[in-house]
Amino acid sequence: MELDKMDENDWKYHGEGNKSLVVSHVQHARVLRLLKYSTEDAENSHKTTEQAFRHIQNIVDYSKNVMKPLLGETFVHNGEAVKLPLDFIRQLSLKVQQERPESRCDKVMDTFSGCALCLPNLTQLSSCCCYEQHRPPLCVEIKPKCGFLPSSRHVTKDIKTKVCRFCMHQHFKFASGKWKRLSRYCPLDLFSGNKQRMYLAIKHLIEEPQNNFKIFKGGECIYSCKDDADVLQDVDDLAQHLRPYFLPSGSFINGHQSSKFVLNELIQVIVSALLSSWDSAHSGEPRKTHVPEGRGTCEASLLHCDLLRNGNHCLPKDCVLARILGTQMLDNLDIEGLNPLFRRVDQHLQDFPKERSRLQIDGPYNENFLEKVQSGPTEDDGSIQYAVRKVHQYRVAMTAKDCSIMIVISPCGEDDGLVQTLEIQPTKPGFTTSVSILDLDPKPYESIPHQSKLDAKIVNYYIKSTQASH
Ligand code: ATP
Ligand code: ZN
Ligand code: MG
Ligand code: MG
Repeated sequence: MELDKMDENDWKYHGEGNKSLVVSHVQHARVLRLLKYSTEDAENSHKTTEQAFRHIQNIVDYSKNVMKPLLGETFVHNGEAVKLPLDFIRQLSLKVQQERPESRCDKVMDTFSGCALCLPNLTQLSSCCCYEQHRPPLCVEIKPKCGFLPSSRHVTKDIKTKVCRFCMHQHFKFASGKWKRLSRYCPLDLFSGNKQRMYLAIKHLIEEPQNNFKIFKGGECIYSCKDDADVLQDVDDLAQHLRPYFLPSGSFINGHQSSKFVLNELIQVIVSALLSSWDSAHSGEPRKTHVPEGRGTCEASLLHCDLLRNGNHCLPKDCVLARILGTQMLDNLDIEGLNPLFRRVDQHLQDFPKERSRLQIDGPYNENFLEKVQSGPTEDDGSIQYAVRKVHQYRVAMTAKDCSIMIVISPCGEDDGLVQTLEIQPTKPGFTTSVSILDLDPKPYESIPHQSKLDAKIVNYYIKSTQASH
C-alpha cells in the first residue's frame, strides 16, 4: 500500500462498531480502521495528528504486547498505525456516509487527524491456496461477551451469581428500545465446551444476531442484524448462500429441509473451529480452562435443565474460547470489588499526579505493563501496587469481554483438505478453518466509574422487571 497514492475508489465501506469505522480494499485483503467520535465531543475532534497517531499506536502496542501474549500468537493480528492524506480521508468519508446504518450515525468518522489502523482483512484471511470462484471463503464473526458468572465475595446482589450479565443486559436493552426482540443467546452456553449447548448458542445467534453475529462471503457481509427485517426470511436467504458449501450438488433435499441441513452443517463447523486446540508454541503460559463449579450455567438460559446439569464445563486447552475466557476471568473481584480499589488508585493519583506515568495508567503498553498485569501481590495488602494491578487486570478483562472472534471457512478440494500449518486445521473434509480475534482496544481507566453505575442499573432493572412478572 503506497500511502501517498491513496485513492478512495480502491476502498469500500466494510462495517463499524461503536468506536471505529472500517473500510476494506477492493482487491487486497486489507482494511483501514478509522476512529469515530461523537458529534458533541468536540474535544476529540481537536486532536492533533501526533496525538491521534499516538492513540492508534497505543492500540497497536496493547494488542501486540498485552492481548497477544494472553490470547495467543496465532489469534491476534495487531496491525500498524498509518498516516494518510487528509484529502483521501475526506473523500472516503463522503463515499461511505450513505452506506452507514442510521443507528450508527450519532458518531462521525475522524477526518481531521489523518491517522488510521491498517489491518489484514480477517474476513478473507486466505488460509487456503485453492480459492474457488463460486465458493469464496465464508467468515463468521462472533462477539461472544462475558462467559462466566462472578463468584467474588464482593458481589452484593445474589442474582448476579445466577443470571449472566448478557442475559440481564438484554432485558435492559429491550426495555430501553435498543432492540425490538430479546436474544436467546447466552454466552455461558457458548463457553460451556458442551457441544449441544454450544450448538444452541450459535443457533440463537443466527436467529437474533444483534451486534453479536455476522457472516461474510468473500469479504462481503451477507448476514447481520437488520433491526426491522423479517427474521425468518433472512435465515432462508442465508441458507441459499450456504447451499453450495454444504449441500453436494445434485442433492435431493429441498426447501425447508435443506435450509435446516445447511444451517446445521454450518453450526457444526463453527463449533469445531471454536473447540480446536491451535498450535501455540509462542503463546504465554498454559492456563486452567475449567470454569469453577456453579459459574458455568445461567438461569436465564432457556435450555432444558437436564442439558445444563449434564454440561461438562471444560474447554480444550488453547482453543480460542479457553483463551478468551481465561483472560476475561482476570476480572475476579467483579466491578463491585474493583470499585474501592479504583478509588484508592484515583485518590493516589490526585495526591501524586506524577505517579500516573510510573504506574502506566495510560500506557505505554509494553512488556512492563503485561508484567504488572501478571504478577504482584495477590492479596490486598492495602498497597497502591495491589490496587493498580487489579485495575489493570479489570481493564484487560473488559477488552476480552468485548472482542470478536473471526472464523474463516474455506472450501478446499479433497486432495488439499489435510493441509496443516500453524494457522490451518482441517475441520470437515473439504474445509479448512482459521480463527482470529479482533477489536482488542484498551478500555480507558476513566470508564470504570461508568461501568460501576451501568452494572447497578442493569442488575436493578433485571430484579425489578422479573419480580414484576412473577
Ligand atoms: P465495538 O463497538 O464492538 O467496540 P469497534 O468500534 O471497536 O466495535 P471493531 O469491532 O474493531 O470496532 O470493528 C467493527 C467491525 O468491523 C467488526 O465488527 C468487523 O465486522 C469489522 N472489522 C474490524 N476489523 C476487521 C478486520 N481486521 N478484518 C475484517 N473485518 C474487520
Ligand atoms: Zn445468560
Ligand atoms: Mg467490535
Ligand atoms: Mg471495540
